Amino acid sequence: MERDVRKNPGLLKLELYCLGMRIDESCNLDDDASPILRTRGGLGSGLEAMLTDDLYTNIPIMENFAKKSPYILKKEDGVYLIYKENLKVAPLKLLPEPKFYDQRTSSGKLMSRIGVMQGTYIGIYPTKVCGFWEMEPKKNCRFCSVGLNIGAQEEEEKGVSDVVEVVKAARKELNITFVHFNTGYYHPDENYLDVLLPYIKAVKKETGLLIGVQTPPDKEMQKYDMLKKLGVNHVSFCIELYDPERFAEVCPGKKEHINQERYLDTIAYCSELFGKGRVAGEIIAGLESPEASITAIEHFASVGAVSTVCVFRPTIGTDMEDYPPPKVEDMIPVFRRMYEVCLENGIPAGVAPNVKVSLVLLPDEGIYFLDDPQKHRLGIFKMKMLHHLFSAYFKTRLAFKHG
Ligand code: SF4
Repeated sequence: MERDVRKNPGLLKLELYCLGMRIDESCNLDDDASPILRTRGGLGSGLEAMLTDDLYTNIPIMENFAKKSPYILKKEDGVYLIYKENLKVAPLKLLPEPKFYDQRTSSGKLMSRIGVMQGTYIGIYPTKVCGFWEMEPKKNCRFCSVGLNIGAQEEEEKGVSDVVEVVKAARKELNITFVHFNTGYYHPDENYLDVLLPYIKAVKKETGLLIGVQTPPDKEMQKYDMLKKLGVNHVSFCIELYDPERFAEVCPGKKEHINQERYLDTIAYCSELFGKGRVAGEIIAGLESPEASITAIEHFASVGAVSTVCVFRPTIGTDMEDYPPPKVEDMIPVFRRMYEVCLENGIPAGVAPNVKVSLVLLPDEGIYFLDDPQKHRLGIFKMKMLHHLFSAYFKTRLAFKHG
């Protein structure tokens, strides 16, 4: 792989996740950037930006480690530029605040409190705060900031019509293609998917957009069959850590009330049901050994699922705010393997149109870490063809739907 961050934007995205970035006084983020909304993205807290036309990122700038970063953002002649020490590395396009954030729904709710842009898609967290934050003592995942944010920047309960209006506004302004529904943990007797169903039905019916669902594993597997019938396109599960000891230490609520086996069984079930590449196992790299992260990636691939890999970020206010972020060298083999397993197992990655994610390196962005892309050229070509075909199909289907 190309090790020069000036020639490898994927490596730059990774380095910025791990090292953060300082902000020079020439910058004017208040006017030029989207506000830093620490809503339900448990690891999200940074500057939303684009490194290239199709590489979105969320750069840590507030955390302690970012204040010592070799990277610094400067504004010169109206253009934002990333420097590493004194070396000019790359331009950075800041994502301005979406205009719809300031609009209100018919019920009077501010749209920024209903849904949040995370790259090119909108994330909706329709339900009350994750139950692990409400337990006494708290059982929240120790890296998570979710319970710190509710109320201040986000409505705790959202109506179906509020959500539909916000999705339509985001589609109109930003041409989004993907809506991601997410819940945290509930009481064991409550049913995650039942709670989401009215939102999913309404958004699918009214917009026809691609829908992803991320919840803890539902206790009734047949519910996933129903999701598929409703037209849900993607499901994902945040197991977070593969090493059982680290899982227990970092995710005490998940260990006690869900456990790893249920995650793995549900990923396998859904992958069989939805098909290769339509299910993701989500892990956080940097809180266990790189070998454990790679074992997780290989496990998911063995059942046809992709991996979504977040880089651990010691977000301010969380239990782990004083932990160091991971080292870039440790992360490179993880992200390389994330893509290699897709190529080796014929698992489609990066097929959906216009789905670019700021908070993670997507499976297909692992291409930046391949040592010898030539070796995989046929597999890479097939992925690109699938992307073009699916994009054309999606566009045609939406055109029919909206006449
Ligand atoms: S399950 Fe863990 S990571 Fe997810 S919202 Fe709850 S505490 Fe946060």
